[in-house]
Amino acid sequence: LGRLYGPIGTLLNLQVEVQTALGVFQRIFEYEDMEPDVKDLTGAKALSSVQGQVGFHHVSYAYQPGQYALQQVTFTALPGEVVAIVGPSGAGKSTLIGMLARLYDPTEGVVTIDGHNAASVTLSSLREQVAFVTQESFLFHASVRDNLLFAKLDATDEELEKACRQAYIHETIAAMPNGYDTMVGERGHRLSGGERQRLAIARAILKNPRILVLDEATSHLDSESEAYVQTALDSLMHGRTTLVIAHRLSTILAADRIIVLEAGRVLESGRHTELLDQDGLYARLYRTQFEKVALS
Ligand code: ATP
Repeated sequence: LGRLYGPIGTLLNLQVEVQTALGVFQRIFEYEDMEPDVKDLTGAKALSSVQGQVGFHHVSYAYQPGQYALQQVTFTALPGEVVAIVGPSGAGKSTLIGMLARLYDPTEGVVTIDGHNAASVTLSSLREQVAFVTQESFLFHASVRDNLLFAKLDATDEELEKACRQAYIHETIAAMPNGYDTMVGERGHRLSGGERQRLAIARAILKNPRILVLDEATSHLDSESEAYVQTALDSLMHGRTTLVIAHRLSTILAADRIIVLEAGRVLESGRHTELLDQDGLYARLYRTQFEKVALS
């Protein structure tokens, strides 16, 4: 229990309104600055342990009335499957993955997890099952250890180190002035984009969720850092249902399903070879974005 005081103390210093420790962790840690609009429905039930099946059933979402960012999106991911979301800028990719974390609930349609309507279970229980790793990984001004412990309050030092090794960040941490006690975040030791992302991966490993939501964009990373992030992501995705905004050719080729979005609609879906055969938007995106990479 002694471990609790570090992170909570830090939060208090940040003048965050602490209702319960758990509430704060849910509100701030995993979903960072993405404060959701959604609230628990009266009588919402907790989602207990899940296999990880994810369903989008005619899901539409409008940020403003009448202006749809997603329209009639339907697809299923079976437990352990990787679904890659691709599409031009503004197509609705971020909106789609945000729906799974319930940053917002559908305007129309239903998102399900193991057949349960995500909108009618408690947010806290849903978020225990879903980890979110994006390019904008948030760090508190706190020690590396406390930043990791938000994912699993009772994690031992051995568990932390194991997760950090898997995320290819342990050696970087060990080389910092105070190791795991080094202060990071806004006023602390500066971490590079790739290091932040790997720390977020280590958190997700500690959390050990059935469902992962990833934004693979790694544009700000140098190639060595990117290679580490990729390897860490591959090991994180293993055995979990993953929805990923895919930017890497290897993810797209390995995906069980690729969802091609344009202007909020699913234009095509299928595996890489099927979509190439259709010779539509995916084939065009592939030729412009990936073929050179594939050939080099
Ligand atoms: P990118 O690849 O550029 O990140 P994307 O495919 O992720 O784009 P979204 O960010 O989901 O696309 O945006 C889909 C549509 O919703 C766009 O038209 C965008 O302008 C709009 N949109 C996104 N966020 C908001 C918001 N908070 N308020 C209003 N409109 C929004």
